[in-house]
Amino acid sequence: MKLSELKTGEKAVVAKVYGKGSFRSRIIEMGFVKGSQVRVLMNAPLKDPIEYEIIGYRVSLRREEAALIEVVKVDEFVSADQTEKLHLKGIVAQDCKEMKLEGDHEGIVKEKHHHVRVALVGNPNCGKTSLYNIASGSNEHVGNYSGVTVDAKEGHFKHRDYDFTLIDLPGTYSLSAYSPEELYVRKAILNEVPDIVLNVVDASNLERNLYLTSQLIDMDVRVVMALNMYDELEDKGDALDIKQLGYLLGIPIIPTNGKMGKGIDEIFDTIIDVYENYDPKVARHIHINHGKDLEESIVRLQGLFRENSELSLKYSTRYLAIKYLEGDKSIEELVNGLPNYDHLVAARLEEQEKCKEVLGISSSDAIVEAKYAFVQGALAETYTRKVKKAHYRSSLTDKIDSIITNKWLAFPIFIAILYLIFWATFSLGAYPMDWINWCVEKFSDFISMNMSEGWLKDLVVDGIINGVGSVLVFLPNILILYLFISLLEDSGYMARAAFIMDRLMHKMGLHGKSFIPMIMGFGCNVPAVLATRMIENRRARLVTIFILPFMSCSGRLPVFVLLAGAFFPEHGALVLLGLYLFGILLSVLTAKLLSHFIKDDNLPFVMELPPYRVPTGKSVFRHTWDKGKQYLHKMGGVILIASMIIWALGYFPSHGKYPTVEEEQENSYIGMVGKAIEPVLTPLGLDWRMGVGIVAGVGAKELVVSSMGVMYGIGGEEEAAAEVVETSDTRLQKALQKTITPAAALGFLVFVLLYFPCFATFIAIKNETGGWKWAIYSAIYTMILAWVMAFMVYHVAGWCGLNGLI
Ligand code: GDP
Ligand code: MG
Repeated sequence: MKLSELKTGEKAVVAKVYGKGSFRSRIIEMGFVKGSQVRVLMNAPLKDPIEYEIIGYRVSLRREEAALIEVVKVDEFVSADQTEKLHLKGIVAQDCKEMKLEGDHEGIVKEKHHHVRVALVGNPNCGKTSLYNIASGSNEHVGNYSGVTVDAKEGHFKHRDYDFTLIDLPGTYSLSAYSPEELYVRKAILNEVPDIVLNVVDASNLERNLYLTSQLIDMDVRVVMALNMYDELEDKGDALDIKQLGYLLGIPIIPTNGKMGKGIDEIFDTIIDVYENYDPKVARHIHINHGKDLEESIVRLQGLFRENSELSLKYSTRYLAIKYLEGDKSIEELVNGLPNYDHLVAARLEEQEKCKEVLGISSSDAIVEAKYAFVQGALAETYTRKVKKAHYRSSLTDKIDSIITNKWLAFPIFIAILYLIFWATFSLGAYPMDWINWCVEKFSDFISMNMSEGWLKDLVVDGIINGVGSVLVFLPNILILYLFISLLEDSGYMARAAFIMDRLMHKMGLHGKSFIPMIMGFGCNVPAVLATRMIENRRARLVTIFILPFMSCSGRLPVFVLLAGAFFPEHGALVLLGLYLFGILLSVLTAKLLSHFIKDDNLPFVMELPPYRVPTGKSVFRHTWDKGKQYLHKMGGVILIASMIIWALGYFPSHGKYPTVEEEQENSYIGMVGKAIEPVLTPLGLDWRMGVGIVAGVGAKELVVSSMGVMYGIGGEEEAAAEVVETSDTRLQKALQKTITPAAALGFLVFVLLYFPCFATFIAIKNETGGWKWAIYSAIYTMILAWVMAFMVYHVAGWCGLNGLI
């Protein structure tokens, strides 16, 4: 009977816990293990949750949770042949002492032992029946052809203190419910809920066998792997890092030989281990990454499945979502009866169409492909072939890989590609940048001619149009950068880049996948922070987010260009390169430092290796535009508000009350702020006007130059439109040359490079790390680091003779 059916005051013994992985582990951790006694403290017919007492504790369970726990009422077996009855139900009391207290039931449980149900799942002909026979001592037919086992056989035996029921299921290549065998195996796993699934894997054909494993992983069941036919792998001279593969999959792996009976004891020892422990180092539930488009669809469907709470206790909603997206017939039947049937059907249709459009293949094909990419990635890290196989999955992918991941060519190719991207971003980007600049000028002229004088006009023209315009000009750079990133991601190269960088990244406490957000960070830190979502490892993800602000984003570029041009006209490029490299260097050091402080779950994960493919136009467009949109959002929101605030701070309360613009600025609010922080800046050789630039840069780094322009009383006045940018820039440069030394300028550059991740990034960090803590740490750390580094640079450069005004 179900636990939920017990009445107040009744006692029972737990027989079995149904439901999916995380629910099961939680329930079992509470003490609802087979054989333990529960008493109902309070179960009123309409009351939810129900209160229970188990192993001396009070716990409350929701009614639907209690319905997933099978129990046997204690009174039920007071009579004779109780032991028999218990055995049939697979129950044995865990704590005899407690049982003995019951007096009447003393005879029920004579010895303390446990019962574990193990289901054998694997491809046809991988040696399931051989293992089954050896373990259970039975003599089932073993044949070297598929389809021998047509239905399940059950065998019983003892290992250590445990009673095992071993279920030999038919062999299947997949669990997609296409064939009767597949459906049968799936039902055996999901509805009968074995305690452990023993996945038998043919070591001589890992790729195909692990595909089935990847489906078991989705189901969120506890799996132990028998790596059978290990002798054949060894005979070929190949090598497999079993431990690492096990870590990657979250499944303990034991090499076995079904013919000679090797590894059987180890298998069942491991099963007991996994059955008794929830140590994530031994076995854990991982999520296979299906790529960002599919993952988006999965998350959406998963949300809809979650609305059905009864369903979500029983099955992994992620599994349901994946299968439903795949077009699985039996999940469709399940969906038929759900209250939110309409939503699910509509959502799936939309997601399937999106997949077709963006990836160019059906969602079911895409899911299969993603699973193979996962298997490929896992094997690439762990499997070494003695003789290179002439062909496997895709010979083209293989050929390309042999060049791109070649020991000698990998890095040069990689660096060449990076160079190409930066070149295109900044050189090609310069043209549309000019056009946008021109349009903004024209627009601002048009508005200023058609609005009547007053603070409102000044707000619109100087605050909004010029503020936002100075940021809008970077949109082409951002789009070009993301166009390339999308191309690389969709073609499959990015996955290889992560692979190539992995070892280097590991030395920094990061992960190969950290690399992609870091590259994106050169464009804009905000989408880069969002891109860290693909890093599964918590520590690697946090560290990556933390160091991203050191990747010099394109917003900082105008400051660099301006100051480098003013103070180091002959060595501009060198200064620029130096700044970028300095940022990278500090990110490496920070990562190393930080990885000592963040607790690591230390669980590796697979880097998927999808096949190479020509990206579809739709997909590239979509991904590029997604990023462009994020950037535009940032401008419409944070930057718009920040420019208005900065404008207002510079305008009030002094506007029109002083003869010169300079004096007006000095007496404005922002001038006061700049002056207030001047004591901090004097040791860096800077004055309050630079301070204003720094304060404005907190809103967005793009605002540093424009606000300094205002401070030095340049720009804003009527000049020939086409020349405004250039003349105001050069005038600002001249003004700067008169006020600070090259050494101070260099320090200022370093300061701008490092200090405070702009406000939008700050918010993104807060959102992605789930709280203010990391965002605030990051703000404080970068500020202090910026000041210290600028101070050092200023003084070192001073000693080197850069301390005179030009
Ligand atoms: P099932 O279809 O998964 O039940 O596989 P069987 O147990 O029927 O085994 C298929 C064939 O593989 C039989 O000929 C076995 O003798 C053979 N076999 C099983 N385990 C091993 C092993 O570890 N090494 C080798 N070389 N052969 C094995
Ligand atoms: Mg068999």
